[in-house]
Amino acid sequence: MRRAFFLAPLLALSVLCGQTPPPVAERSAPPQIIIKADDLRRADPHWDRFLEILQRRHIHAAIGIICDSLENPAPDYLAWIQSARHTGLVEFWNHGYDHHMTTVNEKSVPEFAGTPLDYQLDHLQRSERLAEEKLGFPLHAFGAPFNATDTNTAKALAQCPDLTVWLYGHPSQPAGKLVLARIPEVNIENPTFHPNLEKFIEGYRHHPEAALFVIQGHPPSWDDARFAEFEKILDFLASEHAAFVTPQDLAAASPSPQPSP
Ligand SMILES: [Zn+2]
Repeated sequence: MRRAFFLAPLLALSVLCGQTPPPVAERSAPPQIIIKADDLRRADPHWDRFLEILQRRHIHAAIGIICDSLENPAPDYLAWIQSARHTGLVEFWNHGYDHHMTTVNEKSVPEFAGTPLDYQLDHLQRSERLAEEKLGFPLHAFGAPFNATDTNTAKALAQCPDLTVWLYGHPSQPAGKLVLARIPEVNIENPTFHPNLEKFIEGYRHHPEAALFVIQGHPPSWDDARFAEFEKILDFLASEHAAFVTPQDLAAASPSPQPSP
């Protein structure tokens, strides 16, 4: 009441002066959040800490495996993946086979942008096969290294029926997948590798219309301060009553996407 008492004359004054008060964007419902954690290739203290945060808060996340790490995996790595999966909090996804730059026509290009179709298909299929062989379960979502893809990626994905969700894919060429788009200004990290609460809230406030945010981070690059900032973002999202979901939660809830030509 007290606040309204002071605000009312201010608003009246701004109207009198011909100024419209800035609109306050209202969010009609709490958002859904996918935590897209990139670049798993070994068990290490960073990933332990990331998993401990999920367990302490009882929230879900999606962890992207760079799948050549499954070629000759250390036993502790396989055990870590299985124990993370058994928490019921983590969906693992396909983050490419090697995450390397490669040379095509004397140009250095990412794994899934500028490389031939058969190369991309081979990398997707190898990754899917390795998950089945070494982990005993399939990966159902794909997100490209550097989020760099081209028209060949859509064609290759269309030939991978186990993959049903494309993280940061092209909505105009969905390859028959559920495409979960990127809102670049709403991310854990800004710049890359640096969680940033202030920038997160700024971007978040600009998108009251968005029902879902897929927010990307790289836990292997986080130190104590960066983990602390990540947790501040989680505190903020908790205050917004956000629901933390996985790609498969959304795939299960959505009608089958139409295959694209
Ligand atoms: Zn990556």
